Amino acid sequence: MLKFLLLVALIAVAIWLYRKSNGSRPTQPPQAPVDPEKMVICEHCGVRFPASESSLDTEIHYCCDEHRRAGPR
Ligand SMILES: [Zn+2]
Repeated sequence: MLKFLLLVALIAVAIWLYRKSNGSRPTQPPQAPVDPEKMVICEHCGVRFPASESSLDTEIHYCCDEHRRAGPR
């Protein structure tokens, strides 16, 4: 009787794990192009990059220090 209960418990766990691994896939949100980061354009080369990576906190953005030194094109 104990073996039977153990078997039932094992099957229940197996079903639970199966449903968990299978059910999680459709509920995952699709890889939407979520962009909470403000994108800015380098004044020198025109590349788009997150504002947080800008080398200056002004309205003029540069992708790197090299382009900041080079200035606007
Ligand atoms: Zn640049």
